Amino acid sequence: MSNFFDPRYKTTSRADVVLVGAGIMSATLGFLLKELDPTLKIEIYERLDRVAAESSDAMNNAGTGHAGNCELNYTVQKEDGSIDCAKAFKIAEQFEHSKQFWAWLCDKGYILHPEAFINKVPHLSAVFNEADRDFLKKRYEILKSNALFEEMEFSEDQELLKKWMPLMFHGRAAEGILAATKVDKGTDVNFGELTRILLKLLCRKEGVQLFLEHEVRDIDKVEEEEGIWQMKIRNLKTNENRFIDTKFVFIGAGGAALPLLQKTDIHEADGFGGFPVSGQWLICKNPELVALHSVKVYGKAAVGAPPMSVPHLDTRIIDGKKSLLFGPYAGFSTKFLKKGSMFDLLGSIEFDNLIPMIAAGLQNIPLTRYLIGQVTQSAEDRLESLLQFIPDAKIKDWELQEAGMRVQIIKKDKSKIGVLEFGTEIVHTENGTVAALLGASPGASTAVSIMLNLLEKCFKTRMESPEWQNKIKEMIPSYGKSLLEDQERCRTLKNKAEIALGLI
Ligand SMILES: Cc1cc2nc3c(=O)[nH]c(=O)nc-3n(C[C@H](O)[C@H](O)[C@H](O)COP(=O)(O)OP(=O)(O)OC[C@H]3O[C@@H](n4cnc5c(N)ncnc54)[C@H](O)[C@@H]3O)c2cc1C
Repeated sequence: MSNFFDPRYKTTSRADVVLVGAGIMSATLGFLLKELDPTLKIEIYERLDRVAAESSDAMNNAGTGHAGNCELNYTVQKEDGSIDCAKAFKIAEQFEHSKQFWAWLCDKGYILHPEAFINKVPHLSAVFNEADRDFLKKRYEILKSNALFEEMEFSEDQELLKKWMPLMFHGRAAEGILAATKVDKGTDVNFGELTRILLKLLCRKEGVQLFLEHEVRDIDKVEEEEGIWQMKIRNLKTNENRFIDTKFVFIGAGGAALPLLQKTDIHEADGFGGFPVSGQWLICKNPELVALHSVKVYGKAAVGAPPMSVPHLDTRIIDGKKSLLFGPYAGFSTKFLKKGSMFDLLGSIEFDNLIPMIAAGLQNIPLTRYLIGQVTQSAEDRLESLLQFIPDAKIKDWELQEAGMRVQIIKKDKSKIGVLEFGTEIVHTENGTVAALLGASPGASTAVSIMLNLLEKCFKTRMESPEWQNKIKEMIPSYGKSLLEDQERCRTLKNKAEIALGLI
């Protein structure tokens, strides 16, 4: 099938699978696909000169292995006072899929040093007022009843809390932090390094090629051949175009997935729009402060703030070095990628998404106002949020750094015309020949589950075959069977993965 050349289509090559973008999503999908079918010819195109340089890069995201341990926005207090923990359970289970897959890579000898990308960093949630303390306690009681969260601790004891997060008690009046929960086996994940590891392993396999500084410019249906897509790709070094045909395209272009999806002209993409949210962190430069904090502490988002702006003070472990990160300070932007164009947002407005975008915009005026307010914050304003976490923080110890972009999904809605969503969504054709991942949350931590879901949608028949089922269960043993229901199996698999990943 290789070296296909047909002058009708100006095609220079033909691949079974084309992955657009070299971030964690393409890397995960490419690896899974090649394991499932080693004969596949896979080509990966990346516009930048290195892989994982957008959202997947270590300092472009918070590196939290999202498992529902500490993110208070995954557990929602309902009007009757009860707490809905469904999202926390779902994400915890999805993160177990990721851990099982990464553990399998270690067991197979593909990864010899898991600490290069994953490290144990306890996950804490801290609350500062009585209402939030009651919420935290109820949340703890529900979560702890399941094997996925049974190691969670809750405390109101000031002496113990001080031991858990000494830096946050620096200069703090008594009882400043009312309560906290802690999960010791939380993780910090360097998704950039993981992407590089996966792509390096993948590119060693026969039939896989990675093209850097190659930008996908267009994706068109080949009329003469059912289910074949032709891609126009610009070599950014030579400015030459290359045209390739493929049976399957994954648009894993992060924030830029929407404009590429629009180029396919598939009706499934109609009505989708994007709402870009930029981010900034404060990074601690003072080694004495860094030494005093070895956990990730999440608080509660301010009223009116979007869920992705929940403040947190994080220990990061990157290239074996420890650092501290506080944020994110979300902001409004018109770019879809950190290295994107100011015209991205404008360019994505089309006839079919104009009305949903206006409707979503009108419903979210307070959010837009909040994000614009965030962009215009002064160093003093930023310090104010940090002071809630570290009461005697000094701005000279912290440096402002640009984080990655998140493009939230806007889509059509029957009753509201258009809605803004904070999750992720796979948009694909009925025949499964093209798929795009829109949205950014909870993101990289759940890449394995998201890509398994994509395979179920786009490779339905093969996914149902005993051959693929067996291979997937070898890589992700709990695939297809809920860990929530089988507590004993949950404990066994969790323990096995944590040993392989060096977390215990
Ligand atoms: C501020 C912030 C904090 C976050 N925190 C966390 C966290 O703590 N934990 C977590 O799990 N997730 C987190 N996330 C989410 C996570 O980073 C993303 O979900 C994940 O990195 C997305 O991976 P991706 O492969 O889809 O996209 P990316 O990593 O953005 O990769 C997309 C790639 O496509 C390339 N590309 C784009 N257009 C083209 C084109 N036309 N042709 C060729 N290449 C193209 C880009 O250059 C880029 O390299 C965070 C994100 C942000 C922004």
